[in-house]
Amino acid sequence: MTDLPYQIAAVLRKSRNVLIACHVAPDGDCLGSALGLRLALARIGVDAQVGSADGVPDAFLRLPGAADVMSAPPATRAEVAVAVECSMPDRAGSFAQALADAKTLINIDHHLSNAGYGHLVYWDTAAATGEQMADVIAALRVPIDREIAECLLTAVVTDTGSFRHRNTTARSLRLAADLVDAGASVHAIVERVYETRSAGGLRLLGMALASLTLGADGRIVWTTVPPEMLISAGAQPEEVTGIVGMLRQIRGVQVALLFEVTPQGVRVGIRSRDGARSHVIAEAFGGGGHQEAAGFTATGPLDKVIAATLAEAEKELRQAGRTSAPFRP
Ligand code: AMP
Ligand code: MN
Repeated sequence: MTDLPYQIAAVLRKSRNVLIACHVAPDGDCLGSALGLRLALARIGVDAQVGSADGVPDAFLRLPGAADVMSAPPATRAEVAVAVECSMPDRAGSFAQALADAKTLINIDHHLSNAGYGHLVYWDTAAATGEQMADVIAALRVPIDREIAECLLTAVVTDTGSFRHRNTTARSLRLAADLVDAGASVHAIVERVYETRSAGGLRLLGMALASLTLGADGRIVWTTVPPEMLISAGAQPEEVTGIVGMLRQIRGVQVALLFEVTPQGVRVGIRSRDGARSHVIAEAFGGGGHQEAAGFTATGPLDKVIAATLAEAEKELRQAGRTSAPFRP
């Protein structure tokens, strides 16, 4: 372990007022890590709030502390702010200014595209930021109880795709075992996050998969989710999550793309494998992520966004063909 968790713990321990900020459209890793840290700080009498500009998706509403998550920034300046999984401060959406205003800013992330901002930067190759948060909580010398374990196990289970993604390591599995010992359940998390869908969400999945298009000799697949599709399926925007990962299952596909038309622009989800780097495609458009999962939001007409993204994906495939890049989580 680096000494960063200890440095972070030393700052947090002395703080009276901590803001823990999630990224927009927060996932299980981000929320689980943030809520786990808040609980650990509460155990040692440090007052912390979790902020999420986009609130908490249904699948994570039962996490301990989810009901107290703030969706608007606090009126008072935080002494210490922790940016959880925000590769840039603006990934925190309406909380970005509150991060910038804090006396001390701590940046905890595992995305390849993290910009390294803040006073303390704890970046590593963990499969989930929840693994890093477990190290911070250990450095705080707070024992992992059942509630903290539920939060951190949600982080690890979701970012490893239930221990199926390539990023899963012995570290992920050892931590998961400790969290199960502390009372958390993999089954309960999987049941809530992956095995519970609305009928509309499943209809949306069918529609998005039925309209897929293959390109680049079957090495690229993409599909589009316009607002009309959500309406006719009877689905919520958050139910788009997971569809792009299914597209990548097609034999021979190296890059899968999902174009979702939202009021903020076209949200592009990217999944890849076999040496094609998702984050490189995303970074070309100002986004970011991991080697095998990344994303960005583009303004401009859908057909132009699709054409530009396909061109970038093809460029990445030529690159991946030349160098069989080793996997980096
Ligand atoms: P998603 O397709 O939304 O599940 O995102 C896949 C991965 O890419 C996640 O780790 C996200 O945090 C990351 N990601 C998505 N959009 C962006 C963005 N605009 N900037 C940086 N990272 C992103
Ligand atoms: Mn993550």
